[in-house]
Amino acid sequence: MGNKAENPSVMYEGNSIVQFIDISKSYDGESLAVKNVNLNVKQGEFLTFLGPSGSGKTSCLMMLAGFESVTDGHILLGGEEINHIPPHLRNIGMVFQNYALFPHKTVAENIAYPLWVRRTLKGEINEKVQKALKMVRLEGLADRMPLQLSGGQQQRVAVARALVFNPQIILMDEPLSALDKSLREEMQYEIRSLHENLNISVVYVTHDQGEALVMSDRIAVLNGGSIEQLASPAELYKEPKNSFVAQFIGENNFLPGTIDNIKTNLCVTHLETGDPVQATPVAVSHVGQKTLLSVRPESIVINPDSAEYQNRFNARVMDLIFHGDHLRARMSVCGNDNFIVKISNEVNRLSPLEVGKEIGIGWRASDCRALDELE
Ligand code: ADP
Ligand code: MG
Repeated sequence: MGNKAENPSVMYEGNSIVQFIDISKSYDGESLAVKNVNLNVKQGEFLTFLGPSGSGKTSCLMMLAGFESVTDGHILLGGEEINHIPPHLRNIGMVFQNYALFPHKTVAENIAYPLWVRRTLKGEINEKVQKALKMVRLEGLADRMPLQLSGGQQQRVAVARALVFNPQIILMDEPLSALDKSLREEMQYEIRSLHENLNISVVYVTHDQGEALVMSDRIAVLNGGSIEQLASPAELYKEPKNSFVAQFIGENNFLPGTIDNIKTNLCVTHLETGDPVQATPVAVSHVGQKTLLSVRPESIVINPDSAEYQNRFNARVMDLIFHGDHLRARMSVCGNDNFIVKISNEVNRLSPLEVGKEIGIGWRASDCRALDELE
């Protein structure tokens, strides 16, 4: 392992397995693929980098694994700077998107590979391989070739290979993106329970917000190489800090407005139609400022009759789609023809919606967030 970080600006935080300190990455010496990222992965945590394609997720993971150099900043693993430690000495397990199994080696030989590299004694190898096979529920398939396995089984082998040498932490870059939906959901569950049972730290990469929400303890939302927000799934969903996070996580209705009055917990805005909307100020600071008001489809009520719904409007039902456990209505309201409202079957049974009809809808100021304008 490397030297203890000697730079006085590098503070080791005791419960962290990984620290990114002012990490930047440039491939061409000009543009930055990763911009000044700071984060700690706590011991035993499942932390996910989530972002659109090109946002810098893989670059962050590759610098941590040691396959890409760090342009600026420090990466600490267990409190020690690893910027210049080669990958195979970092004690990090890695699972890639495209399995990357050796096609001419058996399952057992694939899983044994990291042990060979680390010069593990022959007698120990078989035992460790069997144990890893059991962890991913592939006992009995040790002598198969990778191409004789399904996609899900191949990815399990890749996971076993990453776990077999008892790494401090395991990194996964879009490991499930090649699998179909039902297998992907099954593997999400398996990876989660492996994480819980082994008490290992995981840094995971995905562009799929649903996957990130179900798997992670915390999520770092990346955009253009920077972290937009780092928080638990529930916090990201309920309290997005800005419009990028709000539109990337879950579903939101957006209404452009202008601030007329602003206090700590409440602001009054008007829309382009002139309609007033009360909201919670989040990424706004002053009167006259343009804002995007965001409100989730499940926060909207039909025929609100109480004053707790400060925002009440007439809406026309444009379209109704049955989703089994709920109904989704597309409505036209306040100049937005694509306003989505999620309605429970029970509410719809009591007063059924009809396409073309006008109805009253409403939402609370506390469920409506005044965010920044999208770039
Ligand atoms: P993500 O994994 O989120 O899709 P990447 O980290 O792969 O994002 O890429 C971030 C940016 O860095 C992109 O603009 C990409 O084109 C660039 N990039 C990634 N890898 C390389 C490379 N090896 N050489 C040059 N540019 C790269
Ligand atoms: Mg990537």
